[in-house]
Amino acid sequence: MCLTIPVQVQRVIGKKALVKRGEEEFVVDITLLPEVRDRDWLLVISGLALKKIEEKDAQEILEFLRYSFITDPQRVSERFTSIIQKSKTQPLTQDEIVYLLNTEGYEKEALLAEGNMTRMVNIKDFICIHGVIEFSNYCSNDCLYCGLHKGNKDLVRYRMTKEEIIEEVIAAVENKGYKLLVLQSGEDEFYTPDLLAEIVQEIKSRVRVFLFLSVGERGEEFYAKLRSAGASGILLRFETANQSLFAKLHPNGKSLAKRFEHLSFLQKMGYFIATGFLVGLPGQTIEDIANDILTITSLKPEMVSIGPFIPSDKTPLAPCQPPNLDLVLKVIAIIRLLHKRARIPVSTALETLDPKEGRRRALQSGANALMFILTPQKYRALYSLYPNRYQAKGEPWEKYGLFKYEKSYDMLEERLSQEIG
Ligand code: SAH
Repeated sequence: MCLTIPVQVQRVIGKKALVKRGEEEFVVDITLLPEVRDRDWLLVISGLALKKIEEKDAQEILEFLRYSFITDPQRVSERFTSIIQKSKTQPLTQDEIVYLLNTEGYEKEALLAEGNMTRMVNIKDFICIHGVIEFSNYCSNDCLYCGLHKGNKDLVRYRMTKEEIIEEVIAAVENKGYKLLVLQSGEDEFYTPDLLAEIVQEIKSRVRVFLFLSVGERGEEFYAKLRSAGASGILLRFETANQSLFAKLHPNGKSLAKRFEHLSFLQKMGYFIATGFLVGLPGQTIEDIANDILTITSLKPEMVSIGPFIPSDKTPLAPCQPPNLDLVLKVIAIIRLLHKRARIPVSTALETLDPKEGRRRALQSGANALMFILTPQKYRALYSLYPNRYQAKGEPWEKYGLFKYEKSYDMLEERLSQEIG
């Protein structure tokens, strides 16, 4: 679930070991790992060593989360320095965010490094790993950017049965150690409130897992029922805070106001909220993106989910261009500066935009969570929000990040309740 940054053992002292991470030295309990020797690499949670890790894997994780850049005040403008300084204690104005979004060259790198630094200082040694199971690609909406829109008659549609969904969740929890899973689908009324509530209840009665739903706008009663059934969080992006752009992208009477209404009652119901927007939508300006970021500041979601728009075949926006990776990274860094402890996952769309470097660069700009697709292989290609979706190679993240260990669930529970509270 959570991956901790590896530490290296300096000296074993009985059931304890002196370890080092960067310049920091501290003592950990090695009761669970009596075979630990000097120089070994370990993963540690709350002072307890849980697992040995091979040096090459430790180095890979360390490299992904490396921080090695300190802004040279001679090479950035006074305005840049004063905005970064201000972000440490106060919200930013639209103008200031626009300034940061427009940075280039050294200032841009400095902004990303500030995002990384803010993650390091506030979240320290954790990267969270979540999974998503996409259980139906049927959708009653016509979102112009989305490959699942109902007008796409070429797409072969699938629905997972109640039993299939439960089985997948249980396998992800029991075999791989996932502790937080998102159940996602198009907006599909086939799954009635009763059916989804039964699924959630059965899962919750069989395994310890946090379930998030990402099923679109289903109304207040639906979500109240699912909350009672045991769902913990909702992933629902507002996509763009520009009302007229939202209306253009969502025909059939969808409105931004209704999205915000949903987010508001979901928050009141005590759900953990994951929301965010698309970066680089056709017609979206830099000022719009700054407003999207300000919207995050006013909503204060526990998780901020943003990703690049990727043109999808069989949609009206197929001929459009995706944004530059740098723009998406700048958005992540600014959100991190303003929301120091929020969970910011690296979206699959960002990994798709740059399969080689996307994940590392997003983490090094302030993101602190990864989302792996766990949809059964036979359905995966059919969940085609956009083409060539990135297939995460889990190693070493999955290998070491998902402790099959009760304590990591307790730790997550404590963190989530802190984040919600
Ligand atoms: N139906 C649900 C969840 C499924 S869509 C809902 O509407 O909330 C999940 C997310 O995929 C959307 O919120 C959207 O931001 C993203 N998405 C859809 N099409 C995309 C595209 N072409 N490029 C990037 N992201 C896309």
